Amino acid sequence: MRVRNKPWAKDYLANHPDHLVSQPETLKGNWQSRFPQDQPIGVEIGTGMGQFIVEMAREHPERNFVGIEIQESVVATALRKVVDSGLTNVQMVHTDGEAVNTFFAPGEVSALYLNFSDPWPKKRHTKRRLTSPIFLAHYQDVLASGGQLQFKTDNRGLFEYSLQGLNNFPMVFDGVWLDLHQATDDVEDIQTEYEQKFSAKGPIYQVIAHFPE
Ligand code: SAM
Repeated sequence: MRVRNKPWAKDYLANHPDHLVSQPETLKGNWQSRFPQDQPIGVEIGTGMGQFIVEMAREHPERNFVGIEIQESVVATALRKVVDSGLTNVQMVHTDGEAVNTFFAPGEVSALYLNFSDPWPKKRHTKRRLTSPIFLAHYQDVLASGGQLQFKTDNRGLFEYSLQGLNNFPMVFDGVWLDLHQATDDVEDIQTEYEQKFSAKGPIYQVIAHFPE
């Protein structure tokens, strides 16, 4: 997803250091210092406009959240939602999530969320997919024992690739949904901007998995 440049973004990021982390590596092992309460941390990579991470933070005051987004104009929009929400249990980071294992210490993350990640359909771009084995190895480094990776998408090809990749890594599946919005079980679904936009066009797929001990 490429968005138009927002001229106000750079200044907005610079003016909100309380909600935006600019050097995540310096917090490795010390993320709780960014929050008033010491509580489990959920991380979303590819936060987009921020609706999911802000709503998760609102629904779950007993958890802390970190949203990572690579594009300046996009992260600025998410940051504005965070600031406007008044919530203190959510922080944003403007960076590439691939280096997530340099930002967090082993076991520092309780849950990881990937929502409607860019599909990178060309074979030569496979390594950029957020569910490629390179990324999975980094997630394994930072997730606490039993910590879950939650991935949802409307892209069937990316979902099939991800299911195979998680299975081969190996990861243990806690749940697979082939049509999340028609699910009959009691699964939580806090919707993202993409989800709201694209769910009318077809099913939303979801997998939740964890790394074995
Ligand atoms: N999760 C949001 C949603 O569901 O509405 C946004 C989905 S959008 C298709 C994918 C987002 O992931 C884009 O905003 C993109 O900039 C971001 N992204 C892609 N690769 C990334 C990476 N390596 N690190 C951080 N963000 C990334």
